[in-house]
Amino acid sequence: MQAMNYKIDQFDKEHLWHPYTSTTNPLPVYKVTRASGCTITLDDGTELIEGMSSWWCAVHGYNHPVLNRALEEQAGRMSHVMFGGLTHEPAVELGKLLLGLVPPSMQKIFYADSGSVAVEVALKMAVQYWYALGHPEKSNFVTICSGYHGDTWNAMSVCDPVTGMHSIFGSALPVRYFVPQPQSRFHDEWDERDMLPLRRLLEEHHDELAGLILEPVVQGAGGMYFYHPEYLRQAAELCREHGLLLIFDEIATGFGRTGKLFAWEHAGVEPDIMCIGKALTGGYMTLSAVLTSDKVADTISDNYPNAFMHGPTFMGNPLACAVAKASTELLLASGWQENVKRIERQLMRELAPARELPGVADVRVLGAIGVIEVKEPVNMAYMQRRFVEEGVWIRPFGRLVYAMPPFIISPEQLTRLTSALLKVVGEL
Ligand SMILES: *Cc1c(COP(=O)(O)O)cnc(C)c1O
Repeated sequence: MQAMNYKIDQFDKEHLWHPYTSTTNPLPVYKVTRASGCTITLDDGTELIEGMSSWWCAVHGYNHPVLNRALEEQAGRMSHVMFGGLTHEPAVELGKLLLGLVPPSMQKIFYADSGSVAVEVALKMAVQYWYALGHPEKSNFVTICSGYHGDTWNAMSVCDPVTGMHSIFGSALPVRYFVPQPQSRFHDEWDERDMLPLRRLLEEHHDELAGLILEPVVQGAGGMYFYHPEYLRQAAELCREHGLLLIFDEIATGFGRTGKLFAWEHAGVEPDIMCIGKALTGGYMTLSAVLTSDKVADTISDNYPNAFMHGPTFMGNPLACAVAKASTELLLASGWQENVKRIERQLMRELAPARELPGVADVRVLGAIGVIEVKEPVNMAYMQRRFVEEGVWIRPFGRLVYAMPPFIISPEQLTRLTSALLKVVGEL
């Protein structure tokens, strides 16, 4: 057994590329043998309390009997058929369910494979909309700094230009317009001056802009930052005034994470195009969707080439749709709102003492997201090991040490997470 594990570790190290990792000096990886509920079990028997929901996805925890059953039953009928010229119940049933949950103006659904692809599709939709209206020059985008929209080409182009990958890929990327992120925080007073940069930019450049893309209220991987919902209301108005489509990337914020089912509800502002993904399948497999209004869809469809020009091979994958439907129904029946509130209150209470720690710059909590921003970039390998020693799974990045647990986490498990956070950050 020991020898076999060694071989597995060695193979991984020699041949497998992990996210954002070197092959010559890879960050350590821990081998997982199973995961159940809120627990990840490593091959040496160590049990870790899950603090990341596998990057915002596993809201119900792992190995859930309802989701397992949905997957098995669908696999017994058909795992996949092409979506070109064919349709099936899982895609239709999921669509019906989603339409009741998203902004009422969202009436058309385009299934895609991952969050990044959903962002690509959303940007293409916006460009094709203006093309259809005889404005091919309206093909660029504006966004706010510190955003994250994925790792594919155009998704990357609207990620933060500093913390994103522009320094490396810059010359190969389309050049987008960036305005500062709103300084007014979610829980603070609204400051009108936050609107000026966007207003000026739209006045000057609206002729060439197809849309504004934003993560509503919560910026995720670009900085774990919560901004004031008033920004969305005024941004939507500016977009209307200057003829830009408003695109909400709700890939991270969707399905309850921020305390609302979708983050647009904090502002009551409906976008023209909306991307969802991540927790859509409860973390079981990759699936995303781009939603849009009849206006956008019909404009694209009623003009040359009378079709939206995108179609992934695994579009509407029945396994993914079946699990997504089961996961969304489970979420709606789970009392998620009380759960997220309970987690929010506990995170606020138990992370507050971190403010007194010398290495800490800021502590913030919204919904089931708890963030400790430290003063210096962390040594990820070291910190990850310390968290494993403390029996929790937390993966910090940059100056951000944060938790976004599955909604099923028990108060005791959550206390173990927050205690570990305070302890390890306290060592800085
Ligand atoms: C994760 C994420 C994406 C990219 O999703 P992938 O499934 O990793 O391609 C896009 N936008 C936001 C806001 C995200 O958090």
